[in-house]
Amino acid sequence: MTAADSLDLLCLGTGTSYGVPMIGCRCPVCQSDDPRNQRTRCSALVTAGTTALLIDSSTDLRAQALRHGIDRVDAVLYTHGHADHLHGIDDLRAFTLLQRQPLPCYGDEATIGLIRDRYAYMFADPAFALRWSIPRLELHVLDSPVTIGSVDVQPVPLLHGCLPVLGFRIGRLAYLTDCSAIPATSWPLLQGLHTLVIDGLRPQPHTTHFCIDQAIEVAAQLRPEITLLTHLTHDVDHAAVEAALPPGVRLAYDGLRLRVPGCQPQ
Ligand SMILES: [Zn+2]
Ligand SMILES: [Zn+2]
Ligand SMILES: [Zn+2]
Repeated sequence: MTAADSLDLLCLGTGTSYGVPMIGCRCPVCQSDDPRNQRTRCSALVTAGTTALLIDSSTDLRAQALRHGIDRVDAVLYTHGHADHLHGIDDLRAFTLLQRQPLPCYGDEATIGLIRDRYAYMFADPAFALRWSIPRLELHVLDSPVTIGSVDVQPVPLLHGCLPVLGFRIGRLAYLTDCSAIPATSWPLLQGLHTLVIDGLRPQPHTTHFCIDQAIEVAAQLRPEITLLTHLTHDVDHAAVEAALPPGVRLAYDGLRLRVPGCQPQ
């Protein structure tokens, strides 16, 4: 992928860790008929040319893949190891079975170590793995830019409370879920964006996530053409909250598709 190439973003899941509706909740958003208020756990698919990159294997991965007819993934990019972003990992076996090859997975050192420990059955016995009944994953520590297929991926270090996590810059798209601070060294990686997807959680502040006003403040500094807030709780009624957002800032919703153009010719 050159800087001039466009890519396609598909928001697979835009909800917080409980999902919306929350089990047992009878609030107006959880009972809403607006499909944009029904949010599965956070994940996205980025497609550029023939390369499809899945960001996180959410708890809702299977339902998301079926809903959108996803039958091929070239790699998985992990933002961090929290359950809502990781625990659909066993369903990656459908892709490795179909593709008959190991699936490369990228994440920071802590996330890769956590995957190896938490899902030891996937890595313990090579003979068992050969039966394709478990995911065959190839784990890679991502600490510098990498080219996957034809796509250049820039990891963007972020803070999620005290926890270092990764966002990703791909062409003119940045995907920054689960974050409450952007370290000074990461700001230069986020210049010239067309689309910024960023954690907006809810109107009220939170210790480990940007709230809506904080996400808007980041967008005002980075000045992308489009900002999409994601990882939303049941405190966010789509229509009411989106109506009050500044120009260029929208709420993401499950199933949202967006073409992100490449660089304009100079
Ligand atoms: Zn999360
Ligand atoms: Zn609710
Ligand atoms: Zn998290």
